[in-house]
Parts: sequence; structure tokens; C-alpha cells
Amino acid sequence: MLVNPIKNGTVLDHISAGNGMKLYKILRLNELECPVAIITNAYSQKMGKKDIIKIDGAVALDLDVIGYIDPGVTINKIEDSVVVERKHLSLPDTISDVIHCKNPRCITSIEQELPHKFKLIDRENKVYRCIYCESKFK
Ligand SMILES: [Zn+2]
Repeated sequence: MLVNPIKNGTVLDHISAGNGMKLYKILRLNELECPVAIITNAYSQKMGKKDIIKIDGAVALDLDVIGYIDPGVTINKIEDSVVVERKHLSLPDTISDVIHCKNPRCITSIEQELPHKFKLIDRENKVYRCIYCESKFK
């Protein structure tokens, strides 16, 4: 498969196969004006299969959202067709408005404008806890 190389933009690499479309939707990449390419089930020596997203344009991506969905992702920043920055993501320590607290007695269900903030309490099992009511989210 041929995808034109990116001049200035971002490549999300090492996405677990299947998470490419998920990230595409959650990051609302369909709303971008610039070219976006998703490659699914690409061959990877390390992972077997992986997804790749190429964004040919300057965009601000929410790395916490990406790290929460798929902590194995590598972010490559491209300038003038050269990778100028490579970042390995991991599960973020805190996330805001990525997941929502389902506890009906939680203050976030009363105070609608409050951000839904969660703190990582168990990295291995990907367990987050609401900072207001301490409800767990897995
Ligand atoms: Zn809560």
C-alpha cells in the first residue's frame, strides 16, 4: 500500500490493531481539513499487526486521550519530511473528561460543568478513580 509521505504533520505509530478507527473517532480526525490516512493491520515485527494514523497537517492532539486508549502508541512529529520528535506514550496519571463518573451521587452528576477527573491508581490493571467520589473505573 502506498501512502504519500507526510511533509509536516504527525504519525501515530504502533497502535494496537483495531484501535486505529477507535482513535480516529474519539480524536474526531474526520473533522480535520488536512489529509488523514489510517492504515489498519500493517505488518509489524514487534506487534504482528498494528494500525497507523498519518495526519498531514499541524494539529494539537490530546496525548492523554491517546495514552488512555492505547498506551503503546508512538507519536512521531514530522517537519519538512523528517521526524523531529518521537514520543512514547504511557497511561496518563490523571485524565480529564475522557471517561465519565457513573456514580449518581457524585458531585459531577450534580455540577454539570465540573470536569470529570480521574487519577490512575493501578497502572497494571488500568484502574482509575474519580477524584471526587473515589468511584473506580476500569
Ligand atoms: Zn465520581
